[in-house]
Amino acid sequence: MFDHLKNSTPTNIICLFGHPIEHSMSPIMHNVAFKDLGLDYVYIAIDITPNSLKQAFEVVRALDIKGANITVPHKETSLKFVDEISPLARRIGAINTIKNEKGWLIGRNTDASGAKKALKEADIDLNGKNIMILGAGGAARALAHSFIEEANNLVIVNRSSNRGKRLASELTGAYHKKVLYKKFKNKIFENILPSIDILINATTIGMLPNIHLSPIPKIFLHEDLTVFDIIYNPLETLLMKEASEIGCRVLGGLDMLIFQGVLSFEWWTNKIPNIELIKKTILNELVMK
Ligand code: NAP
Repeated sequence: MFDHLKNSTPTNIICLFGHPIEHSMSPIMHNVAFKDLGLDYVYIAIDITPNSLKQAFEVVRALDIKGANITVPHKETSLKFVDEISPLARRIGAINTIKNEKGWLIGRNTDASGAKKALKEADIDLNGKNIMILGAGGAARALAHSFIEEANNLVIVNRSSNRGKRLASELTGAYHKKVLYKKFKNKIFENILPSIDILINATTIGMLPNIHLSPIPKIFLHEDLTVFDIIYNPLETLLMKEASEIGCRVLGGLDMLIFQGVLSFEWWTNKIPNIELIKKTILNELVMK
């Protein structure tokens, strides 16, 4: 895997900070693309607990680590450890990518653009649709900020009401469009889902190892729903499986993962990776597991 690295120059290091980290496909994706382009870069996943996150950013500066991805659960708290934040990431309130420019750390959010590109490639149009987003964490925030302008109505459903209410009221204030917050309850799904066109799961429910869980009982799904589950491991979550059985249009998180990763890769290296190679490599890895 690393025989493309050169001995004569210091290798450029890119990290992934998350907790837990085992589920991530990002190291496989970036390392195969670095090797394919003959770039002297290596991508390393590091399990960082919330208490150690500040020190992790200090290490990035001290070791001249060229960049990083930030994943669950650090996307929001990481904002306070960088020197500059892109306007979109500031609006979203979460970063998933940083670039180190001579000790100056810049934070961006490529989840939003990655998700939009995945939906566009799948020919799923958000325009004028009633959208329900499950979750109010880093990924949900990115999706909500990037989908709200096109949506007819947006409903945020989250387990903890403080996080959900905060996101809904921020969106209402920023985009002058009423966004509802609802608590994670079967009654809510029963009452509101019939009027929803696009359901997006941006929670961790159904992600490995909890593959037997779905955020919504099958009984509340209907065939006119388009279901976008941004989880990519497993490739087909229980929600996706049950939605397919009902006849819903279904999209998983793999393409979003690839597109957000490609945007980060291009920002770090100024090179365009081979998307087909990345997809094939990730699929092989997921099927082998
Ligand atoms: P996060 O910031 O930790 O947020 C997790 C969300 O899940 C929160 O809204 C949390 O609700 C909710 N949640 C967790 N356990 C729950 C439970 N038992 N019942 C109800 N709600 C629960 O994580 P994130 O970064 O937003 O990531 C969320 C998911 O998206 C992960 O599965 C991640 O792998 C996936 N993701 C995929 C991509 C991609 O490219 N495909 C990109 C980013 C993220 P509370 O607020 O109540 O805790």
